[in-house]
Amino acid sequence: MGSSASKIVIKSPREVELMRAAGRLVYEVLCAIEARVRPGVTTAELDEIAEQMIRDTGAVALFKGVENPQARFPFPASICSSVNEEVVHGIPSDQRLVEGDIVSIDCGVRLNGYCGDAARTIAVGRVDRNALALMDTTREALEIAIREIRPHIRWSKIARQMQKYIESRGFGVVREFVGHGIGREMHEEPKIPNYVERSKPEADFELVPGMTLAIEPMVTAGKPGVKFRDADGWSVITKDRSLAAHFEHDVAVTETGATVLSDGS
Ligand code: MG
Ligand code: MG
Repeated sequence: MGSSASKIVIKSPREVELMRAAGRLVYEVLCAIEARVRPGVTTAELDEIAEQMIRDTGAVALFKGVENPQARFPFPASICSSVNEEVVHGIPSDQRLVEGDIVSIDCGVRLNGYCGDAARTIAVGRVDRNALALMDTTREALEIAIREIRPHIRWSKIARQMQKYIESRGFGVVREFVGHGIGREMHEEPKIPNYVERSKPEADFELVPGMTLAIEPMVTAGKPGVKFRDADGWSVITKDRSLAAHFEHDVAVTETGATVLSDGS
């Protein structure tokens, strides 16, 4: 049996640039959606923006049609839109966003054979201080990871810093969902937790130039526990109904550190 690290696909510089093009499209979709978010807009309208931009670019929306064993139907949209206590996998709908909501938008595409996958949490109008602190903390946890990446460091060292930072701010780190390798497939090896997995030391891995990772902290304002919302088998919500935030970037490990593939650069 090989460890998960042995199945990690290392990308050539050319492949990394193809992934940057996919990441750039996702970035542009998220920016267009963020510009449109305001009280009164529906999450279905936000999905329509993504749908059209992805189609116009000749890319494929990766989330649409995805099946999961808990869900009663394949995922029906091009984005996930997760509002307030929803953590991930919220389904766009006719629900109107209201002042004070926060909405996490996640988008994945395949362009010219390579995938991009990124997410950000967006404030709807003015939001309270707790929501702002939650969003800032989640974004900063992702930035910490990106700053710490360098060849030959083990992922657990970075995850420990993310977890420590998030918990020091009084927030919770989601355990049930984690980041992932990304490349020709949206989900490749390895799994990339945002916390230290003491029970699975064998899942740790060493960062090597050419690895491409989707890093995505999911953070709760209350306890870290999550569950499926029964209605559809898709939406994941906090068990205590506290707010949740989610930021995600695709990153390539370089000889000296990291380069972000989904920040429009
Ligand atoms: Mg994503
Ligand atoms: Mg992802």
